[in-house]
Amino acid sequence: MKIVVCVKQTTDGELNPFDASAYEAALRIPDGEVILLSMGPERTGEMLLNLTRLGAKEAYHLCDKAFAGADTLATGYTLSLAIKKLQPDLVICGRQTVDGDTAQTGPSLSVMADLNLITNVMKIHAVGDLGSNLYEDGTDGTILCRNGIQCEDRDGVLRTVAFPALITVERIHHLRLPSIRSKRGTVVRWTAQDLGADLTRCGTQGSPTRVMASFTNAEGKRKCQYIPLSQLLEAIETGLEKEKNRLQPVSKCETPLSNVWMVGEAPRTFAESISDDITVIDRETFTTEYDTRAFAEKFADYVKQHNPKVILWGSDSWSKAAAPQVAALLQTGLCADCTALETDGDTLFMYRPAFSGNIIAKIVCRTEPAMATVRTMESGNADIVVSVGKGAKEVMTRIEALVAEENAKWRERGIRWDMAASRGAVDTDLQPYSRQVGITGKSVSPAVYLAVGISGAVHHIAGMKQSGTVIAINPDPKAPIFEYADYGVVGTIEEVLPHLQHK
Ligand SMILES: Cc1cc2nc3c(=O)[nH]c(=O)nc-3n(C[C@H](O)[C@H](O)[C@H](O)COP(=O)(O)OP(=O)(O)OC[C@H]3O[C@@H](n4cnc5c(N)ncnc54)[C@H](O)[C@@H]3O)c2cc1C
Repeated sequence: MKIVVCVKQTTDGELNPFDASAYEAALRIPDGEVILLSMGPERTGEMLLNLTRLGAKEAYHLCDKAFAGADTLATGYTLSLAIKKLQPDLVICGRQTVDGDTAQTGPSLSVMADLNLITNVMKIHAVGDLGSNLYEDGTDGTILCRNGIQCEDRDGVLRTVAFPALITVERIHHLRLPSIRSKRGTVVRWTAQDLGADLTRCGTQGSPTRVMASFTNAEGKRKCQYIPLSQLLEAIETGLEKEKNRLQPVSKCETPLSNVWMVGEAPRTFAESISDDITVIDRETFTTEYDTRAFAEKFADYVKQHNPKVILWGSDSWSKAAAPQVAALLQTGLCADCTALETDGDTLFMYRPAFSGNIIAKIVCRTEPAMATVRTMESGNADIVVSVGKGAKEVMTRIEALVAEENAKWRERGIRWDMAASRGAVDTDLQPYSRQVGITGKSVSPAVYLAVGISGAVHHIAGMKQSGTVIAINPDPKAPIFEYADYGVVGTIEEVLPHLQHK
């Protein structure tokens, strides 16, 4: 079985951690012939050569000035040309890069290289000849797929698709280290000419989205009020009370845009901030199944007939898989995870965090419709989230028990407690990855976010800054988390724990 793993060297010269996970996933597949593929500048060749020591005998380096400055559409196009030459059974991509942070390239590439798609894979169950895992459609037992891949995704759903296929994986594996005796493989360099690329579809030229400006992002910073332990429960109550009045800001633009579509209700606040002429698209009109490809194909045809100016999407995993496929079919730009929109009545300006949220970029789209996924929160949010970091390691089980107990006690008031974690806690196996909040985890926005033993790295803040009230508990008064907290308790979790219990 031929497996191509798409890897990117991030701006700081490292292998993107999601791609490291993808590579490890590929190496674990029995009888897999693993090939690495990367588009990047000169120095990427060196990274690929080192990576071949882990098991891939060949790597392909797409390197040409014409590829520079590519957005996800142009990247998807360029990679798709290489995939068509290599003809793999399976392509594995990381869910997203940590510098670009869009999660669009995988779905976009799947359309352009004509591959079936599963996104957000947490576990590969079966691959190749599916044998007893033959996939049946449930109605008349028709076998849909004999040779393919079956994976569990982030929603815990088992999905099966036929080869050739592309999967995007979550950060589920650590990449192995090379053995001392390992040998390097070969790196083949392909230019635009080798790929027979249409230069108007590569690099900056082929990228419909443009960054117009960027600003330092102070978003998420709060004025912290330090409180004694005895006031902790009071602060939680204040947070819950404040939640009732937490309205999403709608600052309406003076000259609104016409013909704005939104897929589902999730982007409504964003749509209303730029337009009075909004059409809601019900995805079930196009397909009643989860299948994002079937939706994308039908919806893209519909868009071509009606020419909306803008299409907005939510940021749930379905939208994040469907939107890049629609963008690829329409050859239009898609801006990921916008936190604000603006317009002058003609152009849509999209604002999104970049580089782990340190910078906010202002982006426009040269093509129509301009598309954006907007940052809405993942569903299933609890009211009070207790998020634990490495500093809570001694009391992890006590905290878990406390959260379960409090959840039961507060149920009468209709208030749900839940756990979350920092990457520090996940990497040290104190918590499962499904709980990780942050740039390489999920986003949450509970009424109250209690950060316990979390230092407050920007990577973590990116996933929790939209919480209603943030309470930080940390013995280090200089811990950055206090800059992002409304209330702070300077103390160890061992001291604080008894004060968290509801009487
Ligand atoms: C590309 C990339 C992506 C990343 N993605 C994420 C992400 O998605 N999510 C994420 O969280 N991180 C992410 N990180 C990691 C991030 O930069 C931090 O390393 C991580 O958040 C630190 O976790 P932590 O706060 O639990 O641990 P630490 O930074 O080690 O902090 C532990 C804290 O616990 C406090 N403490 C110690 N003892 C106690 C005690 N007894 N009681 C209470 N507090 C105590 C300490 O004062 C310290 O502030 C990413 C990093 C990179 C490079």
